[in-house]
Amino acid sequence: MQDVTRATEAPKPVSTAEIKPDRVGGGMTRTAPETPLVDIMGGSSRMQINVLDHGFIALVDCMPRLVPQGQSADSAIVQAARVSYGQGTKKVNEDRGLIRYLLRHRHTTPFEMVELKFHVCMPIFVARQWIRHRTANVNEYSARYSILPDRFYTPNLDQVRKQSKSNRQGGEELFRVHDDAQELKTAQEFVQYLDDVEGFYKRYLALTEQGVSREMARIGLPVNMYTEWYWKCDLHNTLRFLSLRIDSHAQAEIRAFAEAMLKLIEPLAPATIEAWRDYDVGAEHLSRLEIEALRDLASGGRGELASDNSRERAEWSEKLARFGFPSL
Ligand SMILES: Cc1cc2nc3c(=O)[nH]c(=O)nc-3n(C[C@H](O)[C@H](O)[C@H](O)COP(=O)(O)OP(=O)(O)OC[C@H]3O[C@@H](n4cnc5c(N)ncnc54)[C@H](O)[C@@H]3O)c2cc1C
Repeated sequence: MQDVTRATEAPKPVSTAEIKPDRVGGGMTRTAPETPLVDIMGGSSRMQINVLDHGFIALVDCMPRLVPQGQSADSAIVQAARVSYGQGTKKVNEDRGLIRYLLRHRHTTPFEMVELKFHVCMPIFVARQWIRHRTANVNEYSARYSILPDRFYTPNLDQVRKQSKSNRQGGEELFRVHDDAQELKTAQEFVQYLDDVEGFYKRYLALTEQGVSREMARIGLPVNMYTEWYWKCDLHNTLRFLSLRIDSHAQAEIRAFAEAMLKLIEPLAPATIEAWRDYDVGAEHLSRLEIEALRDLASGGRGELASDNSRERAEWSEKLARFGFPSL
């Protein structure tokens, strides 16, 4: 993954000099900000990170875009949250503390006050996983209207993953292409298979040139082809997306996009991301049975989970190990 690149347009100074209360007419009043406003994206029209071999994720806009100097998008969350407290506002006077309280107690609507708009280019198989997150607004490239560009995702030989033995949905361990001739051969065969499929692109083009509609010609194309979309989502649901897609159980390719997305948004709402790391993505949930097992452990028992499900017991054992206890 590459560093963030910024496409910059000259930032326009935000002039508030002409804003005078009660001078607009038509019953409208305008209020000049107490503190000068600054562009949260630093005057950039786009902040982009390249992902995989031909993909990218770019933050192209956000709300709030202008924030009081010295603040971040966290301020929009705090602003909305404080309306809940009415006269109680004076007690809640620390923004970071309030954000942490809100996230800890799952008071999530204030986090929907921040909106993020991304332009993403990813393989179709990644897009299929991504689109399951239904709370975003999406507009995708139309392969009925336009020819799909010649962009296919092909992992390097040393990125080819084996089927996981423990997780039917996953691939974890890499083929040992440097140490094992048979494994190298299999990985090469896999990459060759992708190359062969890519060869169909020429036939796709030729058939459209012979008059086959684009909407039909595309149906033979593979899912490692890249597509593009604009994806707009509020911060609350973006964090839900990130919690699921940054997790080690998510497929590595979508994880790469999620990690890049996090890198783009962290500077925009630093207190929120810090709280999310502490109370969500870096936290552990305990079930009732697990709490009972912990109590048993605290009173000198082995901390066995009272479940007849071997997978659940194994997960508990892994959790205990993560907590620093000997696994069962
Ligand atoms: C590791 C992993 C493996 C997966 N495997 C599979 C799989 O094998 N097959 C498969 O089909 N999917 C799979 N998924 C997708 C998964 O089931 C969810 O569809 C996806 O993660 C989106 O989650 P979500 O519904 O919470 O998100 P969103 O759609 O963003 O929704 C957020 C929340 O909003 C609410 N919401 C949104 N829409 C509605 C609605 N229409 N009605 C009621 N409440 C709503 C729900 O509370 C929901 O949790 C997998 C996901 C992951 C992370």
